[in-house]
Amino acid sequence: MKLPEKFATEMEGLFARHPEIAREGFYESFDLEGRRGVRFSCSKTAPDVRPSLLKDLSEQLSPVPWCSCGYYISPDMSNRNPYYHAGVYYPQEPSAMLPAEVIAVKPGETVLDMCAAPGGKACRMGEDLHGSGLLVANEISFERSKALLRNIERSGIPNVVILNENPDNIARELPGFFDKILIDAPCSGEGMFRRDPRACRSYEEYGPAQIAPVQKSILDAADICLKDGGEIVYSTCTFCEDEDEGQIAAFMASHPGYEVICHPEIKGVTHNAEGSLLPGSMRIWPHISGGDGHFCVHLRKSGERRITKMSFVPSYKVPASARRGADLAREFLLSDILSEDGIRSLPDVPFTCHGSGLFLIEFDEKLFEHLKTVKTGLYIGDFKAVSNKTVFSPSNSLALWLSRRMIREDSYIALDYGDDRVIRYLKGETITAEDCRAKKNGSVVIGVKDYPLGFGKISGQTIKNLYPKAWRIM
Ligand code: SAM
Repeated sequence: MKLPEKFATEMEGLFARHPEIAREGFYESFDLEGRRGVRFSCSKTAPDVRPSLLKDLSEQLSPVPWCSCGYYISPDMSNRNPYYHAGVYYPQEPSAMLPAEVIAVKPGETVLDMCAAPGGKACRMGEDLHGSGLLVANEISFERSKALLRNIERSGIPNVVILNENPDNIARELPGFFDKILIDAPCSGEGMFRRDPRACRSYEEYGPAQIAPVQKSILDAADICLKDGGEIVYSTCTFCEDEDEGQIAAFMASHPGYEVICHPEIKGVTHNAEGSLLPGSMRIWPHISGGDGHFCVHLRKSGERRITKMSFVPSYKVPASARRGADLAREFLLSDILSEDGIRSLPDVPFTCHGSGLFLIEFDEKLFEHLKTVKTGLYIGDFKAVSNKTVFSPSNSLALWLSRRMIREDSYIALDYGDDRVIRYLKGETITAEDCRAKKNGSVVIGVKDYPLGFGKISGQTIKNLYPKAWRIM
């Protein structure tokens, strides 16, 4: 492919300064097809069930060395299938799996993804919270935040706020709030030239000189948002030192107290050595590892980290109609859907109402009242008045949050991976319940094997499809 001239000149300079990096095959790698990958959900799939899921997907999957839940997929495998719709996996370019692995989010932490859409890394971080702590996923572009919302909903992450904000506003509202911040920064995109010809064109307009000041201002905002003792992972998909090593070296010079956390050597990831511009930072090179180009560095801020306790704070008086809706939602869950395990796992906080929507919010939403929120907490469903009665309809996010063990045996329709009813359900068709041990009447969850997809209403052998129109496949 024809690469921008400016880029070739910059790379020649980089290879001259770093003779330790093999140059051979670099330019040729742009003409090769990139490798594709999938990353299994860390909350929905335990490592011991992944071999059987892999078998269903394809025989040829092999692990991505730098991601504990990532696998390469064969070029002809479709990345949309029932497991995708159940949030079992997320299709992700293998190199892009590194930053969220490196930041290693733990339950209970407060985590910010400053540049989150479409959400591959945010979903991984949210899954690693396992329902405890908080993920704030921010995307400055409203258009792009829609894809982020859909991906977060599919992943079933409950304790999340999606923002559509400028990082400076988050810094103003939430100083010193986060344990960990990921900045997967907008960049000149050199590592993506092979995959996306548009990246070459936009490089001419938004090259390193235009984008480096934007990255600097995002880093400055992240510093304000980060607790003492907190961690930042900064990543880009470019090779340009001014956006990568140089950007971070300048940040560390102007923000004393940060150190680079060094990671053990991993096959396929090149570590910048002692004596280089930023020792301990990491790169994935396309001609060495086969993936897109990626840069990643892990920083720690000095100081003692204090723990943030997340707890529900009622923010206003709930109107009577909403209270009735919330009661119906709880009744629906307790009497129609949840197993004893599920009832025990249902957080003991009242559902919050926004308009006609009901949400499970286990933190103080007032924290975000001056920020543009796209979603706060887990969307449970909607209520409305129908001829003097209040009725509740569950959301699909609710189904995707539930795990198999949370659902009553007779309320779950488990379809096999190859069963054609799975696709028919995802298309919005009515399906039948023969050979299922479900109840004869009421609400049910339809799933592929142990993975819920959405709700239905069963009557005898017939299941009325409640899969939302906007989610249906063609
Ligand atoms: N982390 C994402 C993922 O894993 O799917 C990819 C993020 S992409 C590399 C960079 C994002 O930064 C884009 O979605 C872009 O809209 C956003 N962005 C652009 N300018 C920004 C700014 N000034 N502040 C914050 N985010 C910005």
